[in-house]
Amino acid sequence: AASPILKRALSTSRPALYAAQSSIPRTKLFINGEFIDSKTDKWIELRNPATQEIVTLVPETTPEELKYAADTAAEAFKTWRKTSVLHRQRKMLDLQLLIRDNMDRIAHSITLEQGKTLADARGDVLRGLQVVEAACAIPHMILGDHLEVATDMDTYTIREPLGVVGGIAPFNFPAMIPLWMFPLANVVGNTCVLKPSEKDPGATMILAELAQKAGIPAGVLNVVHGAKETVNFICDNEHIKAISFVGSDQAGHYIHERGSRNGKRVQANLGAKNHGIIMPDANKNHTLNQLTGAAFGAAGQRCMALSTVIFVGKAKEWLPELVERAKGLKVTSGFEPDADLGPVISPEALKRIEGLVGSGVSEGADLVLDGRGLKVPKYEKGNFIGPTILTNVKTHMECYREEIFGPVLVCLNAETLDDAIDIINKNPYGNGTAIFTQSGAIARKFTKEVDAGQVGVNVPIPVPLPMFSFTGSRGSIRGDVNFYGKSGINFYTSTKSVTALWRHEDADSTVASVNMPTMK
Ligand code: NAD
Repeated sequence: AASPILKRALSTSRPALYAAQSSIPRTKLFINGEFIDSKTDKWIELRNPATQEIVTLVPETTPEELKYAADTAAEAFKTWRKTSVLHRQRKMLDLQLLIRDNMDRIAHSITLEQGKTLADARGDVLRGLQVVEAACAIPHMILGDHLEVATDMDTYTIREPLGVVGGIAPFNFPAMIPLWMFPLANVVGNTCVLKPSEKDPGATMILAELAQKAGIPAGVLNVVHGAKETVNFICDNEHIKAISFVGSDQAGHYIHERGSRNGKRVQANLGAKNHGIIMPDANKNHTLNQLTGAAFGAAGQRCMALSTVIFVGKAKEWLPELVERAKGLKVTSGFEPDADLGPVISPEALKRIEGLVGSGVSEGADLVLDGRGLKVPKYEKGNFIGPTILTNVKTHMECYREEIFGPVLVCLNAETLDDAIDIINKNPYGNGTAIFTQSGAIARKFTKEVDAGQVGVNVPIPVPLPMFSFTGSRGSIRGDVNFYGKSGINFYTSTKSVTALWRHEDADSTVASVNMPTMK
């Protein structure tokens, strides 16, 4: 018989805190190279979004445990910072191999906890793995500058680690986004206190295990769990010098302000409303396929989902075909081999998404495909919503202004390219955007005039590879040093400039100069 705790947990639809006395598996902390049981009495229940079954209990890390993690990281920094760059490169080489070997295991954890399809979960791991692979090139990436100022004087720069850095990750890419953070932070010599999303920490726990196997020493990577209290700790702790955050506007504004007020560097990637422009000269098949994948893949829970489309001129005539393609997508548990999209993360998220669709209808948009109320055979309790398309949407409507973060495509019409660009640039967000056209001149104009961090030309989700950086503009970003690539190295290091003089001739001179050195 189920214990009272388990019964209570199963009857609650929202993540709840309660004393853990049951036999439900509990997520551990990873501190000082060990997986340890939290002593907390506050646990967050994590449910499989396709079934509502409890997968694990996630601890609200206690203040003592948080302090232990930060103190450990500060202690480990003293020795880790002194390791050679080749040593750290070797650890990354070993880590990338282990991640590749464990890709299916990590993907399984993602599908179980987050819901996305297994194939998509593998993509989540792979995009993170690419950052680790890029980190293996650290000896080249971290090269400084050198100038021979004069025959006896040199100036050169050294990039030095900051100390302990904090990472706070969202639920939607449980592997990729933690992998944007700790590998680069560690490979340049920092130690890390990482908080994965309390909604799906499993992938991060496997990555911690792999980091340990790769020989990354105790204390260099630490994983803590929880929600606001843990975040507050990371924003306030004296050892933590920088914070990498990815997530919603609400949390991001708060963390950026609180962390900055405490003198920390903060990089924060926030919400999005990514628009795709469809020009009538585009390749129709390619465009409709790409649009369908980018709007509905991952159940729309990507910060780069192409959730808003602007049909220019006659391109709007393609809408019925788009609807047909969307109808053909299979919605079911991410473990089913034919799944195209899985459930959304929680019943609350489902309710919110359905509410935004309803608001579109009441504000006058046309609902040409309605995925609400979907019951999936074998998974009747899952948080499912099928592909949904709203057309004739206007910019004042709530379904346009809000990030929906579900499989809902919002369609607008424009007469000209200029009108379409104008709509995009007036939207408060500036994460990603894309244009579909066969005209180089149109694409060129669009890429110059649109104000967004990531721009795709016939590419719907233009997440840059890790030799570049993931950026953002306007409301989609706080802080000014971006994730991964050169920018990522800059974020996790500070520059020391050394100017050295080795002069023979005036060794015997007794005349001191009191003027500002001009280095001539
Ligand atoms: P979220 O903000 O709810 O959670 C992100 C992290 O912040 C979690 O670790 C969470 O514990 C913490 N958190 C949540 N609320 C908090 C609060 N009030 N105070 C302090 N900490 C808090 O985000 P999410 O729902 O997990 O992720 C989805 C959001 O992330 C979407 O808005 C999406 O666009 C955005 N996102 C952006 C990018 C990007 O690169 N721009 C990438 C992925 C996701």
